[in-house]
Amino acid sequence: MARTVSILGSTGSIGRQALEVCAHLGLRVTALAAHHSVQLLEEQARRFHPAQVAVVDRTAAADLKIRLADTSIRVQAGEEALIEAACCETADTVLNAVVGIAGLLPTVAAIEAGKDIALANKETLVAGGHLVMPMAARHEVRMLPVDSEHSAIFQCLQGHTDAAAIERILLTASGGPFFGRTRAELAAVTPAMALRHPTWQMGAKITIDSSTLMNKGLELIEARWLIDVRPDQIEIVVNRESILHSAVAFVDGAVIAQLGLPDMKLPIQYALTWPDRLPMDGGRLSLAQLGTLSFARPDEETFRCLPLCREAIRRGGGYPCVANGANEEAVALFLAGKLRYLEIAERIEEAMARWPDEPVDTVEAVLAADAFARRVVRAARA
Ligand code: MG
Repeated sequence: MARTVSILGSTGSIGRQALEVCAHLGLRVTALAAHHSVQLLEEQARRFHPAQVAVVDRTAAADLKIRLADTSIRVQAGEEALIEAACCETADTVLNAVVGIAGLLPTVAAIEAGKDIALANKETLVAGGHLVMPMAARHEVRMLPVDSEHSAIFQCLQGHTDAAAIERILLTASGGPFFGRTRAELAAVTPAMALRHPTWQMGAKITIDSSTLMNKGLELIEARWLIDVRPDQIEIVVNRESILHSAVAFVDGAVIAQLGLPDMKLPIQYALTWPDRLPMDGGRLSLAQLGTLSFARPDEETFRCLPLCREAIRRGGGYPCVANGANEEAVALFLAGKLRYLEIAERIEEAMARWPDEPVDTVEAVLAADAFARRVVRAARA
């Protein structure tokens, strides 16, 4: 099926690669949305001729409107424009690559508008999986994973839709730049140190999350919703080479894994061409050249964010949302030089301890839980 795509977060790492994939596949891009990167948005708009472009930052939107005045492209401003791009009439698929909890409302809007979702925004499911997955089922839209691990699991599950056939999910982690370090060694980590990831080139927020293993914790929660398995069926395995992107262990003892060079274009393309596989350029994995693959258990004593996420999904309700919100706020403070590295996990733990476990059965309640967590993190600084 040739999809028509709306890309939310088009100027970020995933968004830019998604546009390359769309160009390669000859897919029509009918809407673009980004926060503020005007120059890149202008280039993308002139190249892909979408019907509309949404810019969340209003000053940037006004600037882009002037830059695109010679075209028929509609430029819209604000959070509401992001929602409109998610509902864009001519799109059948929305690729959501927005960073953070800001991706939740656009996903909900796109589902309600009957769009298939190519999901790169993990916070949608971390914070709102209990609402979003039933909503997607009701509207009969597909949730196509773009995250490399979840795409790998999805690829391993082709032909095995029966949940009873799954014994365990083996969710792989690179281990991040601080694999093998002790807590004492992590005390003095600076943003620059944490921003150097060994195998994946990504945006700042997810690179920090990879270094703390919070990213794997979020992915654990994401997997629980996407695949509909119990959290205790998900095992985290470190693969330092980032070659084995995840695997599924079945009840007969078979383990099916997806391997490949670390390149996000494959999961992006697979989400857009599923159930078909189409040719893709780029490097090819040579197992003989690679020689060995190494596996290890994650060090959950040192990297506290991972067990905190496991505890959050075990408790359920608003806890995963609170853990995520606290992390987002803490990472922003860390990047701004206002929080120490090891305090990120401490703040998450504190926010979870203070959460009154109120019901979160509406999107508004989810966003309120997120706001609660952020307040706790900011108050702890003062
Ligand atoms: Mg991932």
